[in-house]
Amino acid sequence: MRETPTLRVCALYPDLMNIYADRGNLLMLRRRCEWRGLGFELAGAGIGDALDPDGFDLYYMGGGQDRDQELCAADLHEQKRPALTGAAQRGAVVLGVCGGYQLLGHAYQLDDEELPGVGLLDISTTRAAGPRLIGNVAIEVDLPGAEGRVLAGFENHGGRTHLGAGAQPLGRVLHGHGNNGEDGREGSRDGNVIGTYLHGPLLPKNSWFADWLIATALGDGVVLEPLDDELEQLAHADARKAAGL
Ligand code: GLN
Repeated sequence: MRETPTLRVCALYPDLMNIYADRGNLLMLRRRCEWRGLGFELAGAGIGDALDPDGFDLYYMGGGQDRDQELCAADLHEQKRPALTGAAQRGAVVLGVCGGYQLLGHAYQLDDEELPGVGLLDISTTRAAGPRLIGNVAIEVDLPGAEGRVLAGFENHGGRTHLGAGAQPLGRVLHGHGNNGEDGREGSRDGNVIGTYLHGPLLPKNSWFADWLIATALGDGVVLEPLDDELEQLAHADARKAAGL
């Protein structure tokens, strides 16, 4: 008999990088697997912990304040970067939200210090002197199999992120600020490595995206049964309405 497919998730720095609903995002992945009879396993990797490059289907790094990012950036860069790079190369999903997104890039430049990133996304972030970019945000994504779908969320970041010349955004800003409030781009994606400023909570508000992540992480051969998403879709429609779409 075929083993039940199991989504194995590793949360990076779950005690530090967990601002704004990151635990809810993980819970959403758990529930949507369990409701379908799929397995779900969650592990965490904090400062000083070894990271297994082969043991997980999805690596998740949530948001954090600048000081939380300062605490984990060196460990991420020096200790976990090779494993995370290896995981990305074999096609595992790596999802970074806000502070986690910033650290998937080359660097996050603060006033007097540059935090190194893991360089999985060709992006760089600078902490601007101006106001934080805060508010509801909606983007139209460019994801394989989900072209044109909308992600709704909430953003709150001081950093301004710019994409490298060949880098792809995750989507086009329909409402809100996005990467830097200027170029109309939001997030970034390179294969299955995805970063976004959308908290919100991201996955409960966008159940289709939770399923996209689960399906991509589990790979070919796993078909996700549809779930009753009426409530999520209503909430999504409300979020779109609030954003004036
Ligand atoms: N500290 C980062 C910034 O302000 C990320 C914030 C966040 O994760 N919400 O830009």
